[in-house]
Amino acid sequence: MFDKILIANRGEIALRVVRACREMGVKSVAVHSTADSDAMHVRMADEAICIGPPSSQLSYLSFPAILSACEITGAQAIHPGYGFLSENAAFVQACEDHDITFIGPTAEHIRIMGDKISAKDTMKALGVPCVPGSDGGVPTLKDALKVGEEIGYPIIIKATAGGGGKGMKVAHNAGEMERAFQSARAEGKSNFGNDEVYIEKYLTTPRHIEIQVFGDGKGNAVHLGERDCSLQRRHQKVFEEAPGPTITQELRDRIGKVCADAVARINYTGAGTIEFLFENDEFYFIEMNTRLQVEHPVTEGIFGVDLVREQLRVASGLPMSFTQDDLKINGHAIEVRINAEKLPNFSPCPGKITQYHAPGGLGVRMDSALYDGYRIPPYYDSLIGKLIVHGRDRPEALARLGRALGELIVDGVDTTIPLFHALLAEQAIQTGEYNIHWLEHWLEQNLGE
Ligand code: ADP
Repeated sequence: MFDKILIANRGEIALRVVRACREMGVKSVAVHSTADSDAMHVRMADEAICIGPPSSQLSYLSFPAILSACEITGAQAIHPGYGFLSENAAFVQACEDHDITFIGPTAEHIRIMGDKISAKDTMKALGVPCVPGSDGGVPTLKDALKVGEEIGYPIIIKATAGGGGKGMKVAHNAGEMERAFQSARAEGKSNFGNDEVYIEKYLTTPRHIEIQVFGDGKGNAVHLGERDCSLQRRHQKVFEEAPGPTITQELRDRIGKVCADAVARINYTGAGTIEFLFENDEFYFIEMNTRLQVEHPVTEGIFGVDLVREQLRVASGLPMSFTQDDLKINGHAIEVRINAEKLPNFSPCPGKITQYHAPGGLGVRMDSALYDGYRIPPYYDSLIGKLIVHGRDRPEALARLGRALGELIVDGVDTTIPLFHALLAEQAIQTGEYNIHWLEHWLEQNLGE
């Protein structure tokens, strides 16, 4: 096991990694921009080092700043968290060149899965079911119209380098094709520097079901069931649960095995998530995330495992601490994302936290780097906390979520907390009968979005 690792991230996820390190007896180094000098991850880590000005480009995304912080502090490995450099193949290569272990998959796996076309080709070849669509990239509008005719409308045009819900446009008929095609390309170009797009059949009432996988890099891999992340706004998740309300043990075993076998065959290392759309009892692969996900705590909740601990174990060459047979689901877990955002438009709302009180009690976990008097800087993501509850079953978890939300106090800025109070009153949330469009419709009707 490593003696010391550096955490190339901030906020709740940096604190999450510090916590795992502390329990494992591994020293942690926090890095921070000048805007984050007073951040909780900086206070809680064993050491902290300033790596630059507020701009992420010059701090959390700067290879030289982070690699030299490793050299100075003697950290042997880097945990990237999620976002920032977590899926940057060039950074993984740079770590290798400096004899620093990247806690995550290889640069090659990140590269393959980071490009949605090559990810789909790879998964198809490994026997993973995919959404019907174009065979690779679609270079011209003429090609796009041809694909549209072949697979039938509606279709979705996606930037191959896309992520975070950006670079995706739906066309319901041939007449909408030109605008969708041009704007998906333009978004791909401006956000990711790549205007290549491909086309998929647009599924009208799917759920978003993702499978957590974990590999040791030596051909062994397990799956840790699914998470249902269908409650989304603008393709961004806001509420996640495990197990999925509609996934039977038979479905879980079937798709779980396909996923675990696929990552075992490519000698995948560490945590990964294989995302599917799920409709009429069929799974359709959409993408793989080669990192720890924001919503990993719901999986930890139902399996009673620490995924960050496992990441450190396999990165240091140790075996995983469980086998597939050890992994049994216990109860139900739900996570809600607390963002510093103003409803109804979800506009970012940075500022000073005048009062913070985290909920507690049985089955409640609050992953957050907030504290009284903390000033949320305006430069980064608006996620300020994740409230995760665990119950013996779904109704108990829902009741616990309502109770815990009632205890949570975040004063001084607007947050998404009222959204979750309102959602819990909805029949569809109580019964679990929602799909990926449900929340958008609900927001339109209730907040006039
Ligand atoms: P990103 O990388 O931006 O997160 P994904 O490919 O993972 O993009 O898709 C994000 C979300 O977009 C999905 O969870 C789903 O809500 C929607 N989506 C993606 N592909 C399709 C599709 N073929 N049909 C319907 N919805 C889709």
